[in-house]
Amino acid sequence: MGSLEMKTGPIFSLVLAALMAAGSSVAADKPNILYIMSDDHTAHAIGAYGGRLAALNPTPMLDKLAKEGMLFENAFCTNSICSPSRACVITGQYAHTNGSYDLGGEIGKDQQFLPMEMKKAGYQTAMIGKWHLKKEPAGFDFYSVLPGQGKYHNPEFRVQGEKGWPKDLIKFDGYHSSDAITEIALKWLEEDRKKDQPFFLMHHYKAPHDYFEHAKRYDDYLADVDIPEPENMWLENQPKFGSIATRGYDDELVPHVGTSIGERNPRRSYAGDLPSRFPKDFPKDYDPEKLTDEEVKRISYNAYLKNYLRCVKGIDDNLAKLFAYLEESGEMDNTIIIYTGDQGFMLGEHDYQDKRWMYEESMRMPFIVRYPKSIKAGTRTDAIIENVDYAPTMLAFAGIETPDYMQGKSFKTICETGEEPAAWKKEAYYRYWMHMAHHDNPGHVGIRTKEHKLIYYYGCNYEGGYRTPPAWELYDMKNDPTEINNVYDDPAYADVVPELKQRLADLRTRIGDTGEDYPKAEEVIQEFWDYDGADKAKAIEISTDYKTRREKELRDKVKWIPYGKRPEPMPKK
Ligand code: CA
Repeated sequence: MGSLEMKTGPIFSLVLAALMAAGSSVAADKPNILYIMSDDHTAHAIGAYGGRLAALNPTPMLDKLAKEGMLFENAFCTNSICSPSRACVITGQYAHTNGSYDLGGEIGKDQQFLPMEMKKAGYQTAMIGKWHLKKEPAGFDFYSVLPGQGKYHNPEFRVQGEKGWPKDLIKFDGYHSSDAITEIALKWLEEDRKKDQPFFLMHHYKAPHDYFEHAKRYDDYLADVDIPEPENMWLENQPKFGSIATRGYDDELVPHVGTSIGERNPRRSYAGDLPSRFPKDFPKDYDPEKLTDEEVKRISYNAYLKNYLRCVKGIDDNLAKLFAYLEESGEMDNTIIIYTGDQGFMLGEHDYQDKRWMYEESMRMPFIVRYPKSIKAGTRTDAIIENVDYAPTMLAFAGIETPDYMQGKSFKTICETGEEPAAWKKEAYYRYWMHMAHHDNPGHVGIRTKEHKLIYYYGCNYEGGYRTPPAWELYDMKNDPTEINNVYDDPAYADVVPELKQRLADLRTRIGDTGEDYPKAEEVIQEFWDYDGADKAKAIEISTDYKTRREKELRDKVKWIPYGKRPEPMPKK
């Protein structure tokens, strides 16, 4: 026995040493992945995307990131609202597949596919900041997350501990959430992680979500600046924008669809909400009664944008700290750095606030990626990507093929070559289910190509109820990028409409949003699909009914508009 041990021992040790060396070199060859996502940070509030706010220089660090990496001009979310977009990113699946249709959506432990797959690939995984998917982020090795929306000031975080989710909390007194989130990430990177393993860190800021509470040090940022207005801010100047779905018959629903900057929407507007929150940004003797509607709107718009951009600046300054750490640790160039927002945001365009809309400022996400080893600096692409593609792409960079159950596709090749493979998707899908909740946006579904956007406001909740007038809108994105001309009825687009409707129908079938979970809503969708004369007449009736109902709700001070019973989640894998 002794001699046998003498013979096999060293051989076994050599094999083991070889295996270990192979294992660690495989891990060492893999890049770290730092996925940074802010809440409601829209692309047009980033300097590198150009546009009217670029001159204010709100994001020098992000602009540098874009200069050293690649910027996607056509990144889209498939449902422009917090929890659903986050669920799409984590699962690589559309909302109707992962079951997170609206703000009630949650993603359980067994559905946290992205971190689960990363772990399998040898990554150490962490989730820090805003999670907003209700269940414990148990797919990660480490987490420190805000409860729900979390607080801007003196934030608490749910962490791993003895009491168990969601009872273990740590508190950051005297901190702004963006500073606290960065500090937690830096501590994890510096002290807590195992440095012989690549990391996958999801680093999610709460900012600049409403109501835009920034750190005190930004009180004076942009204080004396007149913020440039969007050219499509004044609904009065865009008679061809929207449809009976968004404006009502003969404009009778203009006050009641979409929360406003000025006083247009009597239920909810920044003109109503912001004076008490940000008195320093309103004139000392501010009295809206003595001002014109136009003046009230201009003042409210400025207060809105200043506080939003103060939050944005806070993120950008924190990114400088994060990137400085990676430079110092020598990992900057071996880390794939992605920056995105969970969706876009309306910054006064069409007099709208918030997101939820399929309009460009809301549907488009920022997406910047830096990885000098394989992504050329200073490149841009107009390839269409969707948030369901993010997980497959990050997994591809980690050396993993897209799992069958994910619906998204990897766009790693586009990052590395700047070219779209021949079979790459030509369209993005969109669906918003929270009919008339919170910000008065009707339920809608649609398709975005590089050239056009077709939006179908079917106007009902999950149960086919609380009807608003149905209508279709078509925008020519090449000739009308600010979407002020709905050309659905324009004879020049007579061929485009049926072609896009067919593509939308095909896309719905292909991704499985076929209405089996919400048959009553689907009946409405089918009823107005062709939108013939009878449908148009019925839309007028619904418009007038809705005006009467909404005016009564306003008199009764109804605050909460129910969006119907959500379909049971369809956990699939
Ligand atoms: Ca959001």
